[in-house]
Amino acid sequence: MAIYADVIIIGGGPAGSTCAWKLLKKGVDCLLLDKQVFPRTKPCGGWLMPEVLEDLEIDAGEYPLSLMSFDRYHVHFKYLNLCLKSLQFAIQRYEFDNWLLERSAVTVIQHQVAHIKQDSGYYVIDDQYKCKYLIGAGGTNCPVYRTFFKSINPRARELQAVTLVDEFPYDCSDENLHLWFSINLLPGYAWYVPKCKGIVNVGIGTLTPRLQKKNDSIKKEWQKFIEKVSALSLIIDYQYNPRGYVYYLRSNVEVGQVGNAYLVGDAAGLATRDMAEGIGPAVKSGLLAADSITEGKTYELSLIKKYSSGNSLLNRVTEYFLADS
Ligand SMILES: Cc1cc2nc3c(=O)[nH]c(=O)nc-3n(C[C@H](O)[C@H](O)[C@H](O)COP(=O)(O)OP(=O)(O)OC[C@H]3O[C@@H](n4cnc5c(N)ncnc54)[C@H](O)[C@@H]3O)c2cc1C
Repeated sequence: MAIYADVIIIGGGPAGSTCAWKLLKKGVDCLLLDKQVFPRTKPCGGWLMPEVLEDLEIDAGEYPLSLMSFDRYHVHFKYLNLCLKSLQFAIQRYEFDNWLLERSAVTVIQHQVAHIKQDSGYYVIDDQYKCKYLIGAGGTNCPVYRTFFKSINPRARELQAVTLVDEFPYDCSDENLHLWFSINLLPGYAWYVPKCKGIVNVGIGTLTPRLQKKNDSIKKEWQKFIEKVSALSLIIDYQYNPRGYVYYLRSNVEVGQVGNAYLVGDAAGLATRDMAEGIGPAVKSGLLAADSITEGKTYELSLIKKYSSGNSLLNRVTEYFLADS
């Protein structure tokens, strides 16, 4: 017989755990399935804007694990170097995601979801789990997206972001956050994020179709980037082992709910158009989906920000770079 819960959430990243946290606070019976055992590694810069902590009701001073705060960051664009004042945070996903999941107090079962079907108003997952409401929080390859949304809500191929990232212990001499924009005139950026406990995170991300158009690859861009990081003496003599992942920037698609099935986080393709920030939109969508279930509110993706920056001029610059010329 199938295990029943009123709500089943597929995926225990920030989108799924936040949704579970909110649902359980309201006393809703829910269960979370993830194919991986937590704590698990997630390729990510781990950079957070203050509003993400607010949405999660986390007091920065009380977060018990690694949380680096920056009151400024350095932006490099060709020969232009700017130091911008703004509060930013950096966490380690390995510990952060696990902490969020534990805090939610949801029951987690390790299970890789393959098939989902509907049966008399319920969702049945791999003939083993059954629920009334289904939350797709399984990231880019989420089976809820595949089963119920792909044909009506296709992701914008031109907005597929491809990334390479490495995070490792390193004795950083520069404790500032650096971003390099428009490398090789591609949209996207590369980053250097020093973290607590002598950890550093470096990575690069751009749009897949743009690379293909230039007959370029993310690996070639990565190589140029680490040479730059070395030339700047930020990281020297290190044997990198970068990991890649693809996800989608926010497009005009606004369908996040079909029947009682919801898409949240990367499963819905919600990363911001300017900075590819995905944790904030994942958290926000998790909260909104929970509100929709508990309070009968419409689940509106339009309530989730499309840009990390609130500056309309910068947003126009973003659109200029995203426009497929
Ligand atoms: C290199 C890189 C750097 C990034 N840097 C930043 C950054 O600095 N700041 C920022 O805000 N965003 C960043 N992002 C984006 C951010 O990582 C994602 O947007 C965010 O993790 C989305 O959260 P999520 O909960 O939707 O999905 P995820 O965190 O990907 O979680 C999905 C979960 O679903 C599980 N799952 C998947 N398929 C199945 C299945 N079939 N069955 C069961 N479980 C399944 C997975 O195991 C996983 O635990 C970055 C992304 C990349 C790739």
